[in-house]
Amino acid sequence: MNTCRRLQLHVMLGFSLLSGIHAAITADQAKEGATGAPPAAARAPGKRHGTEKQTPEVQRYMARIFDPGKYEHSCHATNPAEFTAWQSSARAALAELVRLPTIRADAAGFKPRATLLPAIDDLGAYTRQEGRLETEPDVAIHFWLLKPKGAGPFPLAIISNGHGPSRGAAGIYGSEAAKRHILAEDRDVGIQAVSRGFIALVPSTRGIGEDPEAFALADLDGRNGGKSCIAHNWHAIAAGRTMMGERVWDIMKFIDWATALPEVDAKTIFMTGNSGGGMLTTYAAALDERISIASPSSSFDDFFAPAGNLTHCQCNHFPGMVRFGQFWDIAGLIAPRPLLTVTGIKDPAHPVKETRHAAEEVKRIYSAAGVPDRYEHQFGPEGHRFYKNLMWDFVSKTLGRDLR
Ligand SMILES: [Zn+2]
Repeated sequence: MNTCRRLQLHVMLGFSLLSGIHAAITADQAKEGATGAPPAAARAPGKRHGTEKQTPEVQRYMARIFDPGKYEHSCHATNPAEFTAWQSSARAALAELVRLPTIRADAAGFKPRATLLPAIDDLGAYTRQEGRLETEPDVAIHFWLLKPKGAGPFPLAIISNGHGPSRGAAGIYGSEAAKRHILAEDRDVGIQAVSRGFIALVPSTRGIGEDPEAFALADLDGRNGGKSCIAHNWHAIAAGRTMMGERVWDIMKFIDWATALPEVDAKTIFMTGNSGGGMLTTYAAALDERISIASPSSSFDDFFAPAGNLTHCQCNHFPGMVRFGQFWDIAGLIAPRPLLTVTGIKDPAHPVKETRHAAEEVKRIYSAAGVPDRYEHQFGPEGHRFYKNLMWDFVSKTLGRDLR
């Protein structure tokens, strides 16, 4: 190619790039004109998508495909009426994206079946029992159920695990060292909940190979680095499903089952989880309005790390996730219900600057919904763990009862 032709091509490319940007901004302004909100591109933090670790071509490619101007369900509402309209269409779109209708169709009318083991541990003021809930044919999800003694009815707390065993939340520690670790990081959340008068349900999150109780695929040939959660998600995606959809489905089936128990007061359903359990808490609360209070821990920030790569474990990803919007749009679907997001200030997985920005975006959505006081973000003083004092302070304030 001669110099003249190369220059001409650069000018053409530059023009088409500028035209593209102009068109995107114009379309964005037109779309947002009704609400008067600033364009989504102006609100999103600048992303370099890989910095020096990606080639310049790849950085441009990623900047183009992840352009916030392409988000289809970002919340631009500025008042409760706009918020309600957005929430209705965005929630339906998210349910489709995580393929809940496909999972429902695959279940083909299957009625979930719970099996409780006969042994009941008497732990003083409460009991603990082990069981399984078959949420779709051949998928029996393990759980622990901790119940206060007395007649009830009791509010329900659901505690979901991330990449680790679920048993610690139910007060089953395995070893003294494990017990010290679990208690030092406030991970005995089922025990905390039942001690505060909740019926605590601790289901095993689907596809977590690190949890011996979990229903999970094995990564048989090591194609996925030995990570069963990634193997499981790819197989689900190949079948037109998603792992996030399967996990939310399991929580929905657990809520169906638990709220039919006479001792459960279905008006108060609190859900929490750390890391992957926090991701599931966010999506489940976004999609199921029966969850009345949510507190995802060590999971909430931007979908992207500062370098521009997707930050969460791949088992949380599904096709079209970023075309839908950003993580704060998912969290915003929880409004007007109370939401507390918590991250540790020393958690390298969730940088402070990005997390603060994400929290401001959720606050903006809650303000549009007319309930800015129902959303809080708190930083814990340490790393990637639970912070029970922050969590129970918020639940106490929300319920008007001192549960600290
Ligand atoms: Zn994973």
